[in-house]
Formats: sequence, C-alpha cells, structure tokens
Amino acid sequence: MLVSATEMLQKAKAGHYAVGQFNINNLEWTKAILLTAQELNSPVILGVSEGAGKYMAGYKTVVGMVKGMIEEQNITVPVALHLDHGSYDHCYKCLEAGFSSIMFDGSHYSIEENVAKTTELVKAAHAKGVSIEAEVGSIGGEEDGVIGMGECADPKECKAIADLGVDFLAAGIGNIHGKYPANWAGLSFETLDAIQQLTGDLPLVLHGGTGIPADMIKKAISLGVAKINVNTECQLSFAAATREYIEAGKDQQGKGYDPRKLLAPGFEAIKATVKEKMELFGSVGKA
Ligand SMILES: [Zn+2]
Repeated sequence: MLVSATEMLQKAKAGHYAVGQFNINNLEWTKAILLTAQELNSPVILGVSEGAGKYMAGYKTVVGMVKGMIEEQNITVPVALHLDHGSYDHCYKCLEAGFSSIMFDGSHYSIEENVAKTTELVKAAHAKGVSIEAEVGSIGGEEDGVIGMGECADPKECKAIADLGVDFLAAGIGNIHGKYPANWAGLSFETLDAIQQLTGDLPLVLHGGTGIPADMIKKAISLGVAKINVNTECQLSFAAATREYIEAGKDQQGKGYDPRKLLAPGFEAIKATVKEKMELFGSVGKA
C-alpha cells in the first residue's frame, strides 16, 4: 500500500536498519522493485527525480502506474512514492499529483531561504499526510545536470532544519551521486555522529548509495542513517544485462526482439541488485 515514509523510517531508525530508496525510470523498473520488496517482505521507497518524472510522462502518470501496480500485483508491504531532490515548484506538483512523500532540496539556497521554504512545505505536506525530507549541505556528483562537490553539512544547520518539523533529513557527509572516484576520501563519520547527537531520533538519509563499501554502509546505519538512496547501481546492472543479451545476438534469434524478452534480463538484474541492497540494509522481513 502507498504510505508516507515517516513511520517506516522511524521504525528503521529504532530497529537499526535502513530502508532503500530505489529510483524508478519506467514500468519495468517499478515492477522489479515492488515485486522484490514483496518477495522479501521489506518496506520500500520508490524515488522519482524531476527528470525521471518528465521522462515517465508526468507525475500523475507515475502515481497512476504505481497505485495500479500495487493493487494488481497484490503488493501489501509499505510503499512510499517519493519526489527525489524536488525544487519548490515540483514539491507542490507532486503533492497535487498524489505522491506520498517529497524531498525539498533547498541546499543551494542560503540557510535563511532554505528555512523559509522548508517551513512552508512542511505545513503543506503534513496537511496531506505526506512525509517530507530536507537537505543540508550539498551532496557531491551530478544529478539531473546539477553538480555538487560533496561537502560536509554543518551539524548546527542540520539541527535548525530538523526543528522545522521535517520527517527525515539528508546531510552531506562526503557522499557523492553516481560512481565514486578512485581518490574518494570516504564518509565522514565524525560529521554524521555530530549530526545525530544534535538531531536525536530523526531518521537520517544517505544519498549516493552506489559504490559505498558495505562496512561503511553498516557503520552509517549504526550512526542513525535509516534511508539509503540507490539509483546508479540499478542503472549499471540493467545496462550490463541488456548489453550481454544483445552482444550474444539473442535479439536476432526467434522472437528475441520482442521487448518483453529484450528487457527481461535487465529486469532480473534490477531485482538482484535490489535484493542485495535490502539484505545489506537489513530491511528484509521488516514490512
Ligand atoms: Zn540524492
């Protein structure tokens, strides 16, 4: 069922595990993630970036697809449909379209303007029973054309934003979107610990989950991370499986060109990646 992400993340923080946010791009992606969550009895968050929302023909199309799939595929685990890195305007569009969770990325505004806009959006989201994530300190790498440098958030600014009533908070701790460079310095657990000391029970969010070593993921969960975003890793496994199918000439054998056959290996590859992440994050059996 489609629910806000608040309760599932509070339970995750209290239970010392994390719920995965897996970004979706189309029907195959959505189906692979939902079926895996159901098979593993895990709560799940479907992330939709503004670019992916546009690609999937608009937020209302996404809401219709996800709600229909939950019903027709008998998905009974908690599912949140979440706007990833939303701008001010798009947060309102998603509230209107029926998303159950939004992220307002005000990290590029001054702290004063971030506070003002977040305050307003917290009110608008909660009036609809929708959860809201905010971000402090930009997260490195490129996402929909926006490039950040991977800075560490100021714990006091995190506390100021947390006090506005957001349901979970993304803070930069040296994490990066996309593939990590070979000379990456790793996560700053010192920063994460300082943030948790000030924000208490508030679930924290780790963006850029692709390529962070398993021991760092586990340590981050032990320090209060309850939501981990995975995007690039599913794209890489989908692409690799699809390439293998085509390079083996399978699209030219029989009716191998049928899209239901052509996209099947990539679909299975996403399922395997999601399963691996849910096991690592500890959310299996927690629905
Ligand atoms: Zn992100």
